[in-house]
Amino acid sequence: MADEILKVRDLKTRFFTEEGQVNAVEGVSFDVRDGEIYGIVGESGSGKSVTALSLIDLVESPGRVTSGEVWYRNTELAEEFRDENPEAVDGEFVDVRRLPKGVRRSLRGPSFSMIFQDPMSSFNPSLTVGEQIAEAVEVQRRARANPRRTRSRTQGYGLGKMLVDSLVPSKSYVQDASMDRAVELLEQVGIPDPVDRADEYPHQFSGGMLQRAMIAQALAGEPDVLVADEPTTALDVTIQAQILNLLRDLQRDEGMSVVMITHDLGVIARMCDRVGVMYAGEIVERGTLEDVFENPVHPYTQGLLGSIPDLADPAPRLQPIEGNVPSLIDSEMGDRCYFADRCPKAMEDCLQRIPEFDAEKAGASDDEHRVRCVLAERQYDESQALHDGHFEEQEVAADD
Ligand code: SF4
Repeated sequence: MADEILKVRDLKTRFFTEEGQVNAVEGVSFDVRDGEIYGIVGESGSGKSVTALSLIDLVESPGRVTSGEVWYRNTELAEEFRDENPEAVDGEFVDVRRLPKGVRRSLRGPSFSMIFQDPMSSFNPSLTVGEQIAEAVEVQRRARANPRRTRSRTQGYGLGKMLVDSLVPSKSYVQDASMDRAVELLEQVGIPDPVDRADEYPHQFSGGMLQRAMIAQALAGEPDVLVADEPTTALDVTIQAQILNLLRDLQRDEGMSVVMITHDLGVIARMCDRVGVMYAGEIVERGTLEDVFENPVHPYTQGLLGSIPDLADPAPRLQPIEGNVPSLIDSEMGDRCYFADRCPKAMEDCLQRIPEFDAEKAGASDDEHRVRCVLAERQYDESQALHDGHFEEQEVAADD
């Protein structure tokens, strides 16, 4: 079994809005191993993307990662901080969240990189694609040339040059070597005529081509962990398949670990080694692909699997999961299973407490199959089932 490169522990991210505190990520824990593709799956609003942003410290105000640990295996960093900040070091691992802000920022690129959902809105329309990839290469080049603690976007040159570059951006910022590397990266991700295409603007690229360009940009720093947030959502099915194949080939060739965020169980089945199923900010079930697809325990996982068409055995109607993701506003969440009002097996017990995430399904294919549901520990008891309309009656009572 490969070693872990990333160990995420009890990560919590909140958004402080006028409506109240939104618990977007609620105690998420998972490990990512060397060279694996770890999948996080769930419907819109389940907290997948915020989890991804939290991992690489990109959550913006009014959001904030409020607690939790992100342990990243990096011997060099561990040695650097072992004496100065012992709480941030455990063997070869450092807790990224306890590192100084400048160091965390310097990890974006060579340690963690991200492919965003929508390439069309992620590229700057006024700069060529080549310039934007070259800029990412240039940032990494300057980072390598400077001591870690002084790393920033302005590395490697003085304040005067930085001010000039901020007034006259783009090509003056990057060196020819970085532009050459950008062309190489475009070629690596399968863009034909990369020299010419590097001089084109984002609107001259098709959706699939632009997604390839974004992958090239994400690879600029040769990251250890690539976070791919719905990388194929905006693409049609044939292009989607091409992009997934490209990602898998790159992951194998570069030896990267990938965190694949998607709402699409087909993408998970095709790409991932292990998977976490997210609902209402929590991972409610996690395990190997076989655990989760062959022996799902959580009714939400079962619902997700039941709502995808089976070409070998087409059912007359798909079985949707009724209802919507609940409000994640702290004051409205309550101490109960957050899936209870959509769960076909909800019982009285499910309303007494938030199910612990330490349950283990007997007979699972390995010891990592974990489920946050009372059904992991006991059988469904029809005599305890909530009657139809239970939650509607509660709402009415609360309104009165
Ligand atoms: S804890 Fe209860 S309500 Fe929640 S998913 Fe499990 S069975 Fe359903």
